[in-house]
Amino acid sequence: MAGTLYLVPTPIGNLGDISQRCRDTLERADFIAAEDTRVTLKLLNHLGIKKSLVSYYEHNKAQKGNIILERLQAGETCALVSDAGSPAISDPGEDLVRQCAEAGITVAAIPGPCAVITGLSISGLPTGRFCFEGFLSTAKKSRREHLESLLREERTMVFYEAPHKLLATLQDMAAMFGAERKISLCRELTKLHEEVVRTTLGEAVEKYSAQPPKGEFVLVLAGAEPAPESAATPQDAKARVAQLIDSGMSRKDAIRQAAQELGLPKNLVYEAAISE
Ligand code: SAM
Repeated sequence: MAGTLYLVPTPIGNLGDISQRCRDTLERADFIAAEDTRVTLKLLNHLGIKKSLVSYYEHNKAQKGNIILERLQAGETCALVSDAGSPAISDPGEDLVRQCAEAGITVAAIPGPCAVITGLSISGLPTGRFCFEGFLSTAKKSRREHLESLLREERTMVFYEAPHKLLATLQDMAAMFGAERKISLCRELTKLHEEVVRTTLGEAVEKYSAQPPKGEFVLVLAGAEPAPESAATPQDAKARVAQLIDSGMSRKDAIRQAAQELGLPKNLVYEAAISE
């Protein structure tokens, strides 16, 4: 009989957050697949667990995934862990879960520490509907495109961000969503210097321009206000795009600006602009 792949969440800062079920699963597994075996070894030493480790990370996952799958098919039990938090959430593991599911291997996820949920719950922003956007690209153009695609997003949005990219991201967000948009910056969650700054994008840019950010961040951004029903017609959109192009704007930018000004979806403005 085939074994089971267990997804085992590990603390995102406070070692006390490891659950009894996670300990038991690590103890009982035949082997542990870990993002960084040195990081996991420290955790295992803390828990007093000795277990064989296999590395499974972004750049070896294609090859190691097959090896892990073969061992599971042969009846072994594997516990998958990442450096911190829930495996497979902006972490290696997503592919292994898919591979196992496709091969009919049982996958069991143990609930536990996860930065996105910890940040969202402490943010003070609406939690009823939210979307997780993971990491933004380091490339300015794709980061802007990603943010632009969220322009009309009404749900609360959650992002992961590295400290050295934080200021540029906040500046891009303020330019895209406006300086008044609310944001909660959740830093060093569950650690000694945990801090939640509930502010606006404009104030966050000011704060972190003056004082370079340190530590790990979850950014929780308020959603857009629901757009009022637009009274503008496709003819209005066509005319406004033509006007903006005449004033020297590229067609792409003109369509985006007209859509924003008139409160119409971009695809509708595009269709209107190219219509005869
Ligand atoms: N799979 C993990 C999870 O969902 O909990 C996340 C792994 S991802 C590679 C690492 C990112 O999670 C960090 O860059 C940061 O944005 C966020 N993060 C992890 N631990 C954190 C903490 N203690 N406080 C704030 N953010 C944290």
